[in-house]
Amino acid sequence: MKCFECGSRMKTARENFRYGSSGLPVTLVGVDVSRCAACGEFEVAIPRIEELHRAIAMEVIRKRARLTAKEVRYLRKYLGWLSTEFARHMGVSVGAVSRWENGRDKMGAVADRLLRLMVAHGPPDSDYSLDELTEIVEKDAAPLKLGMRVDREGWQKAA
Ligand SMILES: [Zn+2]
Repeated sequence: MKCFECGSRMKTARENFRYGSSGLPVTLVGVDVSRCAACGEFEVAIPRIEELHRAIAMEVIRKRARLTAKEVRYLRKYLGWLSTEFARHMGVSVGAVSRWENGRDKMGAVADRLLRLMVAHGPPDSDYSLDELTEIVEKDAAPLKLGMRVDREGWQKAA
């Protein structure tokens, strides 16, 4: 493999690679890293990267301690949201999101759990789109009156 910076030959070896661009202290164990001795350029081969990002996210939401600022940012990006979208889904201001992500404020226990649940069950491919969260309005609670009927497909809301 040739260095794309200087054209010299790169040497490939298995390394434990610190995955800094994740923003988290994650090390990829035994991945192929090609290095150029001439200019110092390197290239890391990360197979199945989407699966990796999901696996990291799943580990993060399983940790027992509260989420750190960097973990909040990682999970928000994993969900594919801009800060503004994240704020809308969580029902907070953009300023609150930025304070969570720069560590000036700790995320509360309820928000912490909500974020973990959204990661566990999203990005949405079920009948309940997370977009519906943004449609919740800050009115007084009112009971949901429902008619439910059963057919071959199971229980459903009656029209
Ligand atoms: Zn080079």
